[in-house]
Amino acid sequence: MNNSISAEHNLSSCHTSTNILIVDDILENIRLLSSILEKHGYHTRKATSGKMALTAVQADPPALILLDIRMPDINGYEVCQQLKANPKTNNIPVIFLSAADDISDKIQGFQAGGVDYITKPFHIDEVLARVEHQLTIIKAHKTISDLNSRLEERVKERTQQLEMANTKLLKMAFQDSLTKLPNRALLMKELWQAIEKQIANPNHKFAVLYLDCDRFKIVNDSLGHLAGDELLIALTQRLQTILNEQDLLARLGGDEFVILLTKITDQPYVTAIVDNIFNRFQEPFFLREREIFISFSIGVVIDSSHYRDPETVLRHADIAMYKAKSLGKHQYQIFAPFMYEEACQRLQLETELRKCIQHSEFQLYYQTIIELETGKIVGVEALVRWHHPTLGWISPTQFIPIAEETGLIIQIGEWILKQACYQLRNWQLEKIVDTSFYISVNVSAYQFSQSKFIQQLDEILAETQLSPQCLRLEITETAIMDNTSSAAMVIDNIRQRNIQLSIDDFGTGYSSLSYLHSFPVDNLKIDRSFINRLQDNTSSLSMVQAMIQIAQNMGMNIIAEGIETPEQWEQLKLLNCPFGQGFLFSQPLEPEKIANLIISSHSL
Ligand code: C2E
Ligand code: MG
Ligand code: MG
Repeated sequence: MNNSISAEHNLSSCHTSTNILIVDDILENIRLLSSILEKHGYHTRKATSGKMALTAVQADPPALILLDIRMPDINGYEVCQQLKANPKTNNIPVIFLSAADDISDKIQGFQAGGVDYITKPFHIDEVLARVEHQLTIIKAHKTISDLNSRLEERVKERTQQLEMANTKLLKMAFQDSLTKLPNRALLMKELWQAIEKQIANPNHKFAVLYLDCDRFKIVNDSLGHLAGDELLIALTQRLQTILNEQDLLARLGGDEFVILLTKITDQPYVTAIVDNIFNRFQEPFFLREREIFISFSIGVVIDSSHYRDPETVLRHADIAMYKAKSLGKHQYQIFAPFMYEEACQRLQLETELRKCIQHSEFQLYYQTIIELETGKIVGVEALVRWHHPTLGWISPTQFIPIAEETGLIIQIGEWILKQACYQLRNWQLEKIVDTSFYISVNVSAYQFSQSKFIQQLDEILAETQLSPQCLRLEITETAIMDNTSSAAMVIDNIRQRNIQLSIDDFGTGYSSLSYLHSFPVDNLKIDRSFINRLQDNTSSLSMVQAMIQIAQNMGMNIIAEGIETPEQWEQLKLLNCPFGQGFLFSQPLEPEKIANLIISSHSL
């Protein structure tokens, strides 16, 4: 075979690490190729037969193979095919060494898996160019595969990060951020499962407790929201110690929590847990060096058998909680269908109440207040009346609480106060009463706690020209106790204006006279529940007697409410009770009828 060598190739490209296998049965060829390549920095190995080539490749795979076609044992095509069939070696590029004019050799070479060919006789530049070209391709392949694997790694890393972020998001979506308890969304999911389990097997009963802290707002208002948050975390921890592992405690938001009990045996099992909660919360919390007592109103759904969706379960538990709250807080109520009816009625009343403010369906009635010794009418109490065009008369005991909850009481209360002041001023101008006669107006706790209340009062007195001495305001004990800090200021302002204050329904609220030292009031109105038990109950008698004595010692006046019989009147006189009101003297009446009553009493 002829070999020709062209001009010297420069040595600039150094390929010391590249190892090239030259396979040819003619040693002369091998020597020639190897000298060209070695001169240019390549490292070469030699094989003089196909078999030898295969062994050499197995022992140490080269970067590139220059493969002669015609060899005595295994020809170049076969060697190439065998290499391509083996996954370990199929990546090694093979350049065939072929005669220049043999086209079919070249085609067959490509078919066998070769990547290029070098024609004999060898030409240095061609040899180098083709070898370098293949090595560049190898390098490019390697760069691509490196990039690929780096990319794969990045993708893997990002996927992991995304998965972590997803888990975190999922956790956040189902967790209350303050207490780390399950939130409403998770509770709903768990409730669904509980319902489905119960449908599949009626023995899998569940129960729901809806907890609302009583008067939590006071903590927030007096100690600040941060302290409120601390307290929520502390009470969460206490609740958790009461529950079993399988029970779910969730926070709905604010001071509302829900407990889902899924392994319940019977009703006593559930009520025992409720009792346990009440017992454990008899102990105070210590917050910012203060002792704080927290109690709950709890609504319970026990009979879970007919529920098909979590919203209804929760709504019913909420309605029962609301019932517990309206019955005086710090107690529990088990949901019963009548509560749902009540809630619907409330909602209807609320809607009607909003409408009626525009239609002014309110009226003020007045009930006389009597000096018990003489029977003289000394004043009147204004009592609001609502006559609805289709629902008829609606009692203030029904709609005032709704008005308070919805804030509508501010508007209604302002109207009542103005109306009452105008009424008395008119009677004064008509000389029906003199200036010693007073009007007593009920002020709801919500109204009392509003910062604008005093301003409202001033405006009404200015507008109606009524002297403040003729006005009395009736508030309940809760109005003071629920807003102790603001109450002191309001009371101060009221007293500065010479307006008298009365505690209404005394004996039904906190029943403690101790606060009267810090919140001085002028009159105590003894609740009618004490008066109507006077005759048949000696303890009532002594209670009323004690109230009268204490009030008198503190310089307060007493007004007995709900006097219905002459016997009650007599007894109260004997107890030295100075004033009273009740059906015995007059029902609450329209202004004209009351005016007549007052006028006719003048002639007595
Ligand atoms: P209250 O201020 O204690 O008013 C006395 C309630 O007892 C009145 O009921 C009156 O009709 C009733 N009453 C008076 N004498 C007797 C009696 O001899 N026997 C019986 N059984 N009842 C008697 P009313 O008018 O239904 O008002 C109930 C409550 O609604 C009031 O209790 C008061 O808390 C509230 N309320 C009434 N009017 C107003 C108002 O204008 N503003 C506000 N904020 N609350 C009002
Ligand atoms: Mg009253
Ligand atoms: Mg009363």
